[in-house]
Amino acid sequence: MSLTRADFEQMDADDALAFARDRFSIPDGLIYLDGNSLGVLPAATPARMKEMVEREWGEDLISSWNKHGWMDMPLDLGAKVAPLIGAAPEEVLVADTVSINIYKLAAAALKMRPGRKVIVTETGNFPTDLYMLQGLAEFHDGVEVRAVARENIPEALDDDVALLLLTHAHYKTGALFDMQAMTKAAHDAGALTLWDLSHSTGAVELDLQAARCDLAVGCGYKYLNGGPGAPGFLFIAKRHLDDFHTPLSGWLGHAKPFEFVDDYAPASGVRRAMCSSPSILALTALEEGLKTFDGVDMADIRAKSRRLGDLFIQLVEERCGEEFELGCARDSEWRGSQVSLRHKDGYAIMQAIIARGVIGDFRDPDILRFGFTPLYTRFVDVHDAAAHLAEVMETGEWREPRFAERAAVT
Ligand SMILES: *Cc1c(COP(=O)(O)O)cnc(C)c1O
Repeated sequence: MSLTRADFEQMDADDALAFARDRFSIPDGLIYLDGNSLGVLPAATPARMKEMVEREWGEDLISSWNKHGWMDMPLDLGAKVAPLIGAAPEEVLVADTVSINIYKLAAAALKMRPGRKVIVTETGNFPTDLYMLQGLAEFHDGVEVRAVARENIPEALDDDVALLLLTHAHYKTGALFDMQAMTKAAHDAGALTLWDLSHSTGAVELDLQAARCDLAVGCGYKYLNGGPGAPGFLFIAKRHLDDFHTPLSGWLGHAKPFEFVDDYAPASGVRRAMCSSPSILALTALEEGLKTFDGVDMADIRAKSRRLGDLFIQLVEERCGEEFELGCARDSEWRGSQVSLRHKDGYAIMQAIIARGVIGDFRDPDILRFGFTPLYTRFVDVHDAAAHLAEVMETGEWREPRFAERAAVT
């Protein structure tokens, strides 16, 4: 028998994570299924930003670098990201952006595997991952970027490979790699691994230590709720810290930045991956984003995420199954925290449900993406989103010309 809206209300009443929704400021009536692109505003962020600006910057000024611990924020926040990804606190640094961290870590990996010149990655990876590697290859003689289809990765790992760069949860399909198996395959070939965790951190349980990952990067503005353009993070396994050298050897990665000496010498630990003065305003917002995970177990987040996705697929297939092709794994074990549906008019259909207050997004050529963020997505949201989608399809509302006009950001 199909589920009723009351059944979904009951699921919310029984949800052990329901309390966390109050940690966010969500516009009334909005069903926000795009936390995988930009996480919503944590309720505590505006007041904390105001206080930080007025008191720490406004009154305490330069003394705040010491007095309010500004200088250690990249490491302190790294330590808060660590439990979300199964890393030790001293292995994670919050700095720069995902793209820049990819550049730093990939260049470092080439240096750690002298004589090897190939970086293997997946075709159709998130574009910036591919672009950053292409840029790196242009500036490093003989470096080759070998992008191959997912199923051909194992055979692409030969003796020339220095690094395997993969995105754990695919941005379009949500498809998850078997991190442990792929890392082992890279290690068996003598290569290092760099995992892009942008679509997994805060949504999927991760254990970088158990998987023996070498290097990783991740995003602050998606599931970590750090705000638009929030800093990213990077992970360097403890066993590699002494051999890690950044190509962006800025003064704040120096062993003694305030001695102002002429010659570069790397700081000890993960701090050596730092380049510039951290953006304290941005880190303050990210800190509030990370606090929304306080006291929450990633296993509970993952369990709810899988259930939300399964239920959404079930409802869509019941009400408008023949309209869409499933663009993600049906088995939630291999699906990130999103459901992707395929339709040749996907762009207009997405615009039509956005006009009804159901916010997902569209990715070329035909993918409608619905992201589930267990800290604030309710079971009724899943029910109502599917109902709106079904109505838009049944009425043909999406055919209105205004829904076909393309905006710059999709
Ligand atoms: C969102 C995302 C990024 C973002 O990169 P920025 O440089 O921080 O803008 C990178 N890689 C993947 C896989 C992403 O999903």
